[in-house]
Amino acid sequence: MKMRPVILALFALTASAVAVAQQDFSKVEVKTEQLAPGVAVLFGAGGNIGVSYGEDGTTLIDDQYAPMTAKIQAAVAALGATPVKFLVNTHWHGDHSGGNENLGKAGAIIMAHDNVRVRLAAGGTIAGNAVPPAAKAALPVITYAEGLKLHLNGEEVRVISVAPAHTDGDSFIHWTKSNVIHMGDLFMLKVSFPFVDRDSGGDVRGFVAAADKVLAIADDKTKIIPGHGVIATKADLQNHRNMIATVIAKVEAGIKAGLTVEQIKATNPTEGFGVNPKGFISADRFVETVYNNLKG
Ligand SMILES: [Zn+2]
Repeated sequence: MKMRPVILALFALTASAVAVAQQDFSKVEVKTEQLAPGVAVLFGAGGNIGVSYGEDGTTLIDDQYAPMTAKIQAAVAALGATPVKFLVNTHWHGDHSGGNENLGKAGAIIMAHDNVRVRLAAGGTIAGNAVPPAAKAALPVITYAEGLKLHLNGEEVRVISVAPAHTDGDSFIHWTKSNVIHMGDLFMLKVSFPFVDRDSGGDVRGFVAAADKVLAIADDKTKIIPGHGVIATKADLQNHRNMIATVIAKVEAGIKAGLTVEQIKATNPTEGFGVNPKGFISADRFVETVYNNLKG
């Protein structure tokens, strides 16, 4: 059952803006999973949502698509939480920030990396699809280059930015006491190979660096919220990190040996890591992206 929203979300990323607008969100159910006292994850249509709630108010990490807002607000209320006070975007993609305008108008204070605001305000192109500039209410009002510390509900929640990876404005969020980490699309658990959004300044090498940063603070009990997919462990993240580093090394060696991208693909450099080869980013598309990325 958890696969369905993921497929929906990944479909939306590839479909045209029109097709996304025509998606039937009315049938999407938001599922809630409690990760620690005052920390939960919401699965719906789009990127997974992290929730911190308690006496200091409710903070969301990402907010899926605009038509999902009412269902997300209902899921937050069902936790016994107050309405959303703060909102952090892990990056600018619409399946993670599409609810910004609704929540901004409802009074939430939106926070994100500097480049998230720049890209939302300007609009752009994602996977070949034009994205119009966002409304003013959708824009982050607090932005940062390195990160933030939120002092919420009995713990320090760190928002940490990383070097360009999925985009040039990625952050992950670390609940230091609850031992939960939300990685946005720096990590998609097995449902797809990584999406290196080069139009948004992404770089595949940044995925390895970001994974290393998280692996350095995670332990065997850490609950990792991937951008898409079910809750993951440190071992899952290690596998993801090894997969990307392996593909980079193999593609690099192929380039040095003078192989074409087709010849490199024929060596199956992505095999053996349990990632769906036909996901939103297929194995072949990932190898092509890594090839072009490394060739500069
Ligand atoms: Zn994304």
